[in-house]
Amino acid sequence: MVDFSLTDEQREIRDWVRTFVKRELIPLENEVLLRERRGEEPGLTDKERNELQQLAKKSDFWGVQTPVEYGGMGLDAISAAIIETELGRSFVSFRFGGDADNILYHANEEQKRRYLLPTIAGERKSCFAITEPGAGSDAKAIRTTAVKDGNEWVINGEKTFITGGNKADFAMVFAVTDKELGADGGVTCFLVDRDHGWTSEPIDTMGESRPASIILDDVRVPEDAVLGEVGKGFPLAMQWIGKGRFQLPARALGGCERMLDMAIEHSKNRETFGAPISERQAIQWKIADSQVEIEALRLLVLHAAWQVDQGYDSRHAQSIAKLFGGEKANEIVDRVMQIHGGMGYTRELPIERWYRDLRLLRIFEGTDEIQRRTIARDLLKGHVRVGATLN
Ligand SMILES: Cc1cc2nc3c(=O)[nH]c(=O)nc-3n(C[C@H](O)[C@H](O)[C@H](O)COP(=O)(O)OP(=O)(O)OC[C@H]3O[C@@H](n4cnc5c(N)ncnc54)[C@H](O)[C@@H]3O)c2cc1C
Repeated sequence: MVDFSLTDEQREIRDWVRTFVKRELIPLENEVLLRERRGEEPGLTDKERNELQQLAKKSDFWGVQTPVEYGGMGLDAISAAIIETELGRSFVSFRFGGDADNILYHANEEQKRRYLLPTIAGERKSCFAITEPGAGSDAKAIRTTAVKDGNEWVINGEKTFITGGNKADFAMVFAVTDKELGADGGVTCFLVDRDHGWTSEPIDTMGESRPASIILDDVRVPEDAVLGEVGKGFPLAMQWIGKGRFQLPARALGGCERMLDMAIEHSKNRETFGAPISERQAIQWKIADSQVEIEALRLLVLHAAWQVDQGYDSRHAQSIAKLFGGEKANEIVDRVMQIHGGMGYTRELPIERWYRDLRLLRIFEGTDEIQRRTIARDLLKGHVRVGATLN
């Protein structure tokens, strides 16, 4: 059976988040754009974010995918995708509170007490640090080292583009503990407090994201700072990255929906040569193409999320959704800007902001090229068969 309907609960969740976005986030958009123009913080302030998270918490919106036993909502991946799509309808980037990186659940009891639980509670902030100046797509090429010295590990290296790294008070650092084995048993993940001595510097980008460059210079951590097992870091890193790649295109989908609505509205109101531009085929085709791509993206995102919920190996479906979402969202924002003419290019409207922010989707958490590489390899090696989506 192929069923395209949402459950009552999923519909309720969608409507609740849509109302939240309309009432709480969209009214902040002008101020957020103004602040960016004044060279201030390009997103919400910590205070605003905390207040909004607490407001949502009062309606039990806390820890969307955090298991119920840890105080979360324990929602399925499809519901999480729906929530991301709704949140994506504003460029003001916001997440509900109460969640923690999936790999922190591999922590031992003491680490859970020190890292997982305070992160869920919003008392501590984490960051995930694998990328280095010489190792991005090719994550296996990392050179940060961790060397055992008595009952401590000494970590040396540089990490770059680390989201949240400027404010995090601990980092999940991936380091080589056995050069011979490399990623096949020689990479370990460490929980490293900022107090252990690492430093960070913000990197300015063309969008809201200001990731950090992190320096680890003879940073000493105790033996028990290892997350999981020594030498088993690389699979953990892959698990973190694969945690829900569908969520990135899901968020972009929401932005595309809102922008297409804006474009439709504008095209009906803007007259040139005696008629609204909505009557011109050149404009109608842009609207039609965007709608087709939005609907295709929705199905790809939901299919990937559905595979997660079924417990299937969803990597292929997630790569397809991420690749298509990144490329199409960038084409859609370009068309929407074109439909708005000069106004689309100004900083009065959020379109140029989306234009800059959405570009990141084609780069981080696996570039377009790396997604294509994965998709092609799956087919060439016979892991996935053409046309085997339905079984
Ligand atoms: C804003 C931002 C936030 C980020 N957040 C984090 C984070 O929190 N934690 C973290 O660890 N990392 C993070 N990253 C790093 C991100 O994952 C990498 O930038 C990304 O994986 C690409 O790596 P790279 O920049 O080194 O590009 P490279 O790997 O150097 O790639 C350069 C170009 O070559 C292409 N290319 C590479 N290999 C191949 C190939 N085999 N075949 C064809 N083309 C290829 C790439 O697709 C790209 O177009 C972030 C990056 C950004 C920009």
